[in-house]
Formats: sequence, C-alpha cells, structure tokens
Amino acid sequence: MSVTAPVFRLDGVGKRYGETTALDGVTLAADANEYMSLIGPSGSGKTVLLRTIAGFEAPDSGTIEVMGRDVTHVPAHQRGIGFVFQNFALFPHMTVYDNVAFGLANGDAPPERGTIVRRVNDILKLVGLSGLENRGIHQISGGQKQRVALARTLVTEPKLILLDEPLGALDANLRARMRNELRAIRER
Ligand code: ADP
Ligand code: MG
Repeated sequence: MSVTAPVFRLDGVGKRYGETTALDGVTLAADANEYMSLIGPSGSGKTVLLRTIAGFEAPDSGTIEVMGRDVTHVPAHQRGIGFVFQNFALFPHMTVYDNVAFGLANGDAPPERGTIVRRVNDILKLVGLSGLENRGIHQISGGQKQRVALARTLVTEPKLILLDEPLGALDANLRARMRNELRAIRER
C-alpha cells in the first residue's frame, strides 16, 4: 500500500498585523478526499488562514506544503489551489459563461477554444446553471452567483478548493440545498 502525502500541511504558521496576532503557530493537515471545515467566531483568523494557504498572504513563520511540495514562497497562481471568495468576486460586466471561462482562457497555458467551450459547459451543467450562460451577473440570484463562483473555480481543476463562508450569503433554504449540493459535487 502506498502512503500519500496530505493534500496540504501547515506547520507552525504564524501571521501578525501590527499588534494583532491573526494566526498563532497553526499546525494542521488534510488528507486526500477529506472535507475539512474551520469553525470559529468572527475575527478568529479563518479568512487569514485560507488566504495564507492559497498564497494571497505570506506567513511570518512556519511552512505550507501542498501535495507534498513546500509552497511557502510559491506565488498563489502556481499552487494549484482554487479559492471561492466570501463575496464571490465575480466580474459584474461579464456573462455567466465568460465569468467561468475567464480563468481557463487567461491561465498560464490556455486550452484550445473548443476545449474551453466543452469544459465550461460541463461545469455549468454540474452546478445546475445550464441555460443561464448568457445572463449578466446582475440578472441572477444570490444562489446562482454562488454557483458561478464555484464553477469558475472548479473549471480550472484545482487539487484543493478553499471556500470562505460559502453559505454565508444565502438564505436558510438555499443554504441547506447548497450544502447538499457541495457534498454531491465533491463526490463527483
Ligand atoms: P475571520 O475568522 O472572521 O475570517 P479574519 O481572518 O478575517 O477573521 O481576521 C483575523 C484577525 O486578523 C482579525 O483581528 C482581523 O482584524 C485581522 N486582520 C485580517 N486581515 C487584516 C489586514 N489586512 N490588516 C490588519 N488586520 C487584519
Ligand atoms: Mg472571514
């Protein structure tokens, strides 16, 4: 039997902002296919931790490994990590399709146009957005925006996906539905 490296491993990760200690020696690892949730009160460092794993923030101390590779000093776009931002951070003047295609078409090694079209359409189907390709972002609901944000990340096929309060912007009904859908999408 082979022993695989954890999908990510943090060792003694610290981050301060002036007088504020946002992360204090965080040691944590997740295995392949694991679904991990970070729970804590507002201001406890959840967002800073996710941003540090993704590479949007540099830690003051400690190391970060992703798929067995030390990425502590590797730029965010070279870490193979998908990030779904709390406010979704969609492009408001682009269509649903273009929002999802953007990361593929503008990545380091963009696939051919036909491949982009196929992959975007497959992902839109997976998250239940088929038929809304040509809608503007202001023409869809909060739950649909959440799906666009998820699709935009999934389409780049990241090894690890980080979601910052993925259900926070949704009402109670949608929250329960989306929670089940996230589970189903993860299985696939
Ligand atoms: P949450 O668990 O609510 O996501 P955060 O990770 O956003 O908490 O914040 C953790 C702490 O770090 C808070 O005290 C916050 O004010 C502080 N913090 C986060 N980002 C910055 C920043 N860019 N500059 C200064 N302080 C920050
Ligand atoms: Mg937060």
